[in-house]
This record gives sequence, structure tokens and C-alpha cells, in this order.
Amino acid sequence: PKLSLPQFFMDAAKKYPKQTAITFFEQTYTYEKLADSIQRLASAWVQYGIEKGDRIAIMLPNCPAYPISFYATVQCGAIVVQVNPMYQPDELLHVFQDSEPRLLIILDKLIPVVQPILDQTSITRVIEVSLDRHDPFHQLLQQTQLTSMFPIIDPPKDVAVIQYTGGTTGRSKGAMLTHYNIVANTLQGAATARVITEKGKEKLLAIAPLCHVYGMTGAMCITFYNGGNLILVPRFEVESVVKLIEKMKPTHFPGAPTMYIALLQYYQKHSFDLSCLKACTSGSAPLPVEVINRFNQISKTSVSEGYGLSEASPVTHRNPIVGIQKHGSIGIPVPNTDAKIVDITTGENTLACGEVGELIIKGPQIMKGYWKMPEETALTLRDGWLFTGDLAKMDEDGFFYIVGRKKELIIASGYNVYPIEVEDVLYRHEKILEACVIGIPDAYRGETVKAVVVLKPGEQLSAEELILFCRKRLAAYKVPTHVTFTNELPKTFVGKILKRKLKESGA
Ligand code: ATP
Repeated sequence: PKLSLPQFFMDAAKKYPKQTAITFFEQTYTYEKLADSIQRLASAWVQYGIEKGDRIAIMLPNCPAYPISFYATVQCGAIVVQVNPMYQPDELLHVFQDSEPRLLIILDKLIPVVQPILDQTSITRVIEVSLDRHDPFHQLLQQTQLTSMFPIIDPPKDVAVIQYTGGTTGRSKGAMLTHYNIVANTLQGAATARVITEKGKEKLLAIAPLCHVYGMTGAMCITFYNGGNLILVPRFEVESVVKLIEKMKPTHFPGAPTMYIALLQYYQKHSFDLSCLKACTSGSAPLPVEVINRFNQISKTSVSEGYGLSEASPVTHRNPIVGIQKHGSIGIPVPNTDAKIVDITTGENTLACGEVGELIIKGPQIMKGYWKMPEETALTLRDGWLFTGDLAKMDEDGFFYIVGRKKELIIASGYNVYPIEVEDVLYRHEKILEACVIGIPDAYRGETVKAVVVLKPGEQLSAEELILFCRKRLAAYKVPTHVTFTNELPKTFVGKILKRKLKESGA
């Protein structure tokens, strides 16, 4: 259905008025109360003169003010600018100067980060949120007179969100997601978990940040569509998350690889009960097969790996939550999604099963384009196909496998080395906690493979031992020739390893 986001939310709110929509520590919101807060804030926006197409920036961790601000903004036909609360002044300036928001909703503690650059932006009003609700944001909710004069939204045309890409490979770009894109992806995502989802009954553990596209659609929008309870967690801290799982007994958990790795590591010392979880999904970065195997031993469900990107609102592929899963694969395209593998250099010719090329995707979840970047848009969206920049292959059953990003492909002595294949081998080593592989210049081979490794606490391993381990499992040109041990890998805020930082620092 071509519904707008506010219509979509209000449908659920009418069906499940007394159900708990949000839990945040001791705070709870029923659907009725949440809908009322959204209407109040949307009314405040109208009184402030916010018009269709205006931008409102949200810079909050996961907390109830987030969904209230999000749905109030889209209710007015305005555009949500997703701002990562971990951004520093330089990154913020890029986002604000690019998207030109009129209002900023921000966690009070973050004001000092924004203050130095505010006068270089278009922001005319800053609304502070405090996690205890004694703040200008909640005062505004109480004081506002309700209105129902909202503009008409055209879901396939009107942009609801500017979602900045993760900046893993370069400066982040604003993906314009329409109402229709996000509603479509909510339905596509919900369809993949339908068999184990009871409407109005499920609880979803939302650690994934809502300001990231995976948390926005995969946690927030899907939970509200199902009439479920969104358990909001402002940051991932393993011990408190384990306590929360035991107390709240969530049924759904959309996580990221680093979260599964941290939970596994914690489990080695303090076993805990994960039997409440019915659907565990992972996305945003490769999930090592070894991690899936180990997590599946301690939970009653199998982690289902999926794949997506900001430009696709985000999910395009998923392993079935129930049924055949293939570990190491990102699964099959979600409903109404076409995917194919094409020649890396020409972007044409569909390749045969097993051949590696660029993954391209078509479907209702694909963005309208990049905000103010017509040339990038033309390069990325061709004939309705989204060129993902990811290298992948498809097997005979239609399961897809990501082998790396085009930008991260290593060409050693003329051979293609796909980092994920080497990383999967490194993760099989029992002493390794985290690992990644990058290409470094080499006078003889052009490029050569380098592994950067974090060992489990108390473990010792030499570069020679690790190289020997790889030699037994990989063709010679894929074996790392350089190994660096480190205490920590640089990551984006959703836990993706920042390989370009490792390359720049020469680690
Ligand atoms: P930028 O585009 O600015 O470099 P980014 O690619 O990290 O940053 P996102 O849209 O947040 O921006 O992430 C999408 C990318 O994440 C995909 O293109 C892909 O490379 C990677 N990704 C997502 N899921 C998986 C997965 N299951 N396995 C491997 N890679 C994944």
C-alpha cells in the first residue's frame, strides 16, 4: 500500500491503543499515549511555521523523544535529518550545511558539541531533551494546542528522511528516502519474520541506534507495524543488556556483528538465558560464520544474517528466519526485490552463478536519490537499479554472498582477494577475538594482504603461527603476508571496522 509514514503509524495506534509501544528504563508509553505525544509535537511544528519539505534534525540516542520527534516531523510533511549523536563538530557541520535544517532536537548533554558551529548553520531553534523528561521538549508537548491541519503527503514522491550513509568508504552522502520507500521496507522486513511474529505481542530489543537506517526501519517501524513493544536502549553495554534481556524477555533482536561477538565473549564467563529470543538478525557488516555457529549454541534460535544499505531503506536480502539458512550468505532478496550480479567494470551483463561481480538491486525500497548530489545519483541509480558498490556472487539456490566492497578489493599479483574470505578463516582461530584484512602496497605484487588482529584477553600468538594457520586453509596469494596485533580496531558507531582508517594510519 502507498501509505505515508504517519498514516501507517496511526493505523497501528488505533488497533493497539492500550498496548505498550515503548519501554525505556522505568518509562512506558502505550500506543495511545505515543500517538497523542506525536500529534502534540506535530501541532507545535505547525505553530512554528514548519512547512512541507522543511528539514528537522534529530540528534538523540535511543529514547522515547526519538520516535515522537520522527513521526511528528513526517506528519507535517517535513523531512527528518538523521544525525548521529556521536558526531563531532566537523562531521556535524557537513551534515547541517548540506541538509540545512530549521530545527534541531538534541540531547541536552550534546549541546556543547554543537554550540561552536551553530552560527554557521541554518538552525534557528534548538530544542533540548533530557532523559528524565524535565526539559523544554516535554514542556512543549504539554503546552501545545492540538491542530489537525497537516499537509497532504504523496508517499512515493515526498521525502521523509535524509539518511546519511555510514561514511565507511568516504564522506557520508544523504540518501533521500520517501515515505513509500520506508513503508515498503517495513512491510518487506516484517514479511520475513511473519511466521514467528504474533501481532500485538512481541517485544523488540532496540539497541541498534534509531538514527541509523537499520534501527529506524528494522527496529522502530517494524515494531510499530506489528503493534509490538519497542525496548529502547541508549547504548550497548554488554552487562546491562544481558540484565535487560533476562528482565524484559524480548522476543526479537536486530543486532550487529560486534554485539553478537560481545555477547559471546561475556557468555564465556557468565552464562545467561537467551531462550526468550525467537528472531535474532544481523546486518550492517559481515557476520563471521564462526560467530553464528557459537551464538546458535547458546540460544534457541539461529541468527539470520541480512544485508542492506542506507540507499535501500535499508534491507534488500535476508536469510529466512525459519527454514533453510546458509551461513556466510546474506540470504535471498526480500519480497518484491530484484537483485543481480553484473560485470564490475561495465556494470552490464548478468553474470552466471558463482561469478563475482557488483550487486545491483531494484525494488520499492530504493531511494529517490542523494540529497543535492545529482552526479552521484546518476552514477548510483541507473535505469532504476541501485549499484551497491559491493562485490557479491549468487549460488544455484538464489542465495547471495558478499565478498567485499568494490573499494576494498585487494588485487595481489593480479589475483582478486576478497577480504571477507580471509577474515572468515582468521575468525576460525580460537585465540582471535576480532580481525580484518586490508590491502597494502607491495613493490612486487602490486598489493598484498595484511591482517590486523585483536586477540582474546590473555592469549598469545605470533605472526608466523597465524600465517601458517592461513596457509593450510587458503591459496597462497590470499594468505596475509603482514600481520599486526592491536588492542582495538577503529569502528563506525554501528560497529563497522573502519578499514580506511587502518590504511591511512598504516597500522
Ligand atoms: P559509505 O557508503 O558512506 O561508505 P556505509 O556503506 O557503511 O558508508 P551504510 O549504508 O550504513 O553506509 O552501509 C551499507 C554497507 O554495509 C553495504 O554497502 C555493505 O558494504 C555493508 N553491509 C551491510 N550488511 C552487510 C552484510 N551482511 N555483510 C557484508 N557487508 C554488509
